[in-house]
Amino acid sequence: MIAPLAEPARVPSPVRERDAASTDKPDPSPQPSPARERGRGGAVPSASAFTTFIEALRVDAVAGGVSATTFDAALRGVAPDPAVLARIRGQSEFGRPVWEYLVGAVAPGRIARGRARAAALGATLSGIEARYGVPAPVLLALWGVESDFGASGGTVPTIRALATLAAARHRGDLFRNELLAALAILERGDVAPARMTGSWAGAMGQVQFLPSTFLAHAVDFDGDGHRDIWTSEADALASIAAYLKDLGWNPGLSWGYEVRLPPGFDLTHYAADLSAFARRGVRRADGAALPGTGSASVFLPGGIGGPAFLITDNFEVIRGYNTSDSYALAVGHLADRLGGGPPLTAPWPSGAARLDTAGLQALQQGLAAEGLYAGASDGRAGPKLREAVRRYQIREGLTADGYATPALRDRLLRRP
Ligand code: CA
Repeated sequence: MIAPLAEPARVPSPVRERDAASTDKPDPSPQPSPARERGRGGAVPSASAFTTFIEALRVDAVAGGVSATTFDAALRGVAPDPAVLARIRGQSEFGRPVWEYLVGAVAPGRIARGRARAAALGATLSGIEARYGVPAPVLLALWGVESDFGASGGTVPTIRALATLAAARHRGDLFRNELLAALAILERGDVAPARMTGSWAGAMGQVQFLPSTFLAHAVDFDGDGHRDIWTSEADALASIAAYLKDLGWNPGLSWGYEVRLPPGFDLTHYAADLSAFARRGVRRADGAALPGTGSASVFLPGGIGGPAFLITDNFEVIRGYNTSDSYALAVGHLADRLGGGPPLTAPWPSGAARLDTAGLQALQQGLAAEGLYAGASDGRAGPKLREAVRRYQIREGLTADGYATPALRDRLLRRP
């Protein structure tokens, strides 16, 4: 049974920022506003400020077990990269709608490439699935969305990118801690400094782990003594599997299902056992039977009338990799497609008005003022906001689809 108000069981934050320019991945970080941007840092540090930053960092790194040799080899000649900060500042103010995101993330070419990779890596994937309990199509889907199956893990030197973000105090101490973690990886010898590359925001290799995620979850599956998420497909795929397992992946469950809700379905009871949904007339869109065990909740990412899903706790596990609902839905659906499943069947409300980040923030603040929402006013849609919207809709006698629209915001804020 999914407790409707419970936070998903996952690490507090995936602490991963995205290379917004390279990718079709949604940015899970709070969107910039002038006030927040000041708090986030972001100015290119002067040469003297950078030198001071490196000297203080060296003390902490050595105290933490990084040798002076490793530190000096990694940071020698490194200067701030203004392009890194320009990329971070340039992150899109408006998240793309889920249907546009899915078109790119689950494109026919990607499905074809994924199926080819699945065929070529069959034995490796079977071994990883057996060890970690995460199905091969889910591993392939994450690998595909993160780096197009290893083809685009990013070529930005990680140490320089992290040093730039850390010295600029972008998001406080987050990137300084990631830089220390990156140095710990170099100290351990998993990768040479020149090969430690990734996105503008420090997400590394084929799996786009931040260094702290690497230290906690990456594995050496091919047994050569190095956790190599840059060039070893076995290590990359197994590291994804180990991370999902650590986040709580349930081997007995899918991430979710596209479903059809029967006419008159009572949306106020949206979390239940799958068998209870089946008894209430909910059917899988592909005609297959719902499993007899496991629990799920109704997810209507485009509101009532758009595609309907039952999502399980494994959906929240995927959101532990990247907090975006769009991302988790894309990974789940791509996994289904790689496993031979059909396209989504219901149409999206693609012409409908949507709330931008500021609109979502206003909605969050309005719901908080009504005592219906206790999360951050960060302009991000997610399970907490969905739950608050449902509670408001139920209170107001509206269709409880949990979908935040401009009309809902205007009603809440009593705008004409
Ligand atoms: Ca290895």
